[in-house]
Amino acid sequence: MSVSGSFSNLDAVLAEDLAELRSNGLERTLRTAGRRNGAVVETQHGRAVDFSSNDYLGLASDPRLIDAMFRALREHAVGAAAARLITGNNPEHELLEAALARFFGAERALLFSSGYAANAGIIPALVRRGDVIFADALNHASLIDGCRLSRATIHVYPHSDVAALESLLGRHRADARRALIVTDGLFSMDGDLARLGDLVDLAKRFDAWTYVDDAHAVGVLGAGRGSTALAAVQSDVDVTVGTLGKAFGAAGAFVYGSSTLVQYLLNNARSFVFSTAMLPSQAAAAREALAIVETDRPRIERLEANARLMRRMLSEVGVRPLGDPLSPIIPVIIGDAAATVRVGSTLAALGVLVGAVRPPTVPAGTSRLRITISAAHTHEQIVSFADVLGDVLRA
Ligand SMILES: *Cc1c(COP(=O)(O)O)cnc(C)c1O
Repeated sequence: MSVSGSFSNLDAVLAEDLAELRSNGLERTLRTAGRRNGAVVETQHGRAVDFSSNDYLGLASDPRLIDAMFRALREHAVGAAAARLITGNNPEHELLEAALARFFGAERALLFSSGYAANAGIIPALVRRGDVIFADALNHASLIDGCRLSRATIHVYPHSDVAALESLLGRHRADARRALIVTDGLFSMDGDLARLGDLVDLAKRFDAWTYVDDAHAVGVLGAGRGSTALAAVQSDVDVTVGTLGKAFGAAGAFVYGSSTLVQYLLNNARSFVFSTAMLPSQAAAAREALAIVETDRPRIERLEANARLMRRMLSEVGVRPLGDPLSPIIPVIIGDAAATVRVGSTLAALGVLVGAVRPPTVPAGTSRLRITISAAHTHEQIVSFADVLGDVLRA
């Protein structure tokens, strides 16, 4: 061992792990992104057009959200100062929850500080040791962590393989008291949709509950109501989670469902009970975003048209885009992790940002560019991005 004599030295041990990550092309570093204006962001190397954010509707820099946030800041101060169940429950939280419940047609909604916290808190509140979870192989890391924290037995089915799920349910459902089927609505790295109709049918047949993390589809698909609305199963899904940090341009997250579900979760979801409430001003900004999503249909239509345009332009320059035709997430598989990072860096130097996604976010050998589309992109930005990417991939 090369750290002889210093085995217990923290930095020496961690530096070895980092060196190994680096040699596999998997080390990550932070890039600074400054002021954002629509899809244009200021970086260390000047302005760049951002095809890597989840700001699908261009709301993160919208002046109406900024004004709503300032108004609430002045009225309510900065921090909520406590957890919701202590003295942190501000009227802004309740207004946003009521607006979310109404928009999604649910009895009630409950806020969390992030989508990660929602999944890590809700799943262990619903199932525990002796219960059983059926999880899609490509579920988001926060769902995986929520499932593990629950200590329920986890059966992973191959991505969107409904037949495999059916056979797992047949073999293992009866072992457990409670069963939960857990899936992304729109998969974050593949841009494809869960087969929600089939999942809901199986859940009914096998007496299981359904849990859909719709982080990438709320504000985007189904007139903003998400993949469950698109699949017309909104009221069949037991638990739906969405984030406020993507299409809604702010931060935080929510779950919606029955009044009983929400009342249960505010007593039992540990990431809700034991965590400071989100900033009241954050809730105000998110409520403004929700009002825009509800009334500004042309904005969502622009996003759809932009995604269609990008798929068509990529095909024209010989690049094969993956994912659902409606998805604003457009993966382009490169394969090798180091090569993916190189392409990403070359593009950044040319003034366009894309996600270079590597393991452990995606399986080894499937490293990819993750191109995301926003309603804020212009026709010209999309056409020129496709040209540049075509050139870089040919070179
Ligand atoms: C981004 C994401 C999350 C995490 O949401 P945050 O609000 O960013 O913490 C959870 N689930 C999925 C599927 C996501 O893509």
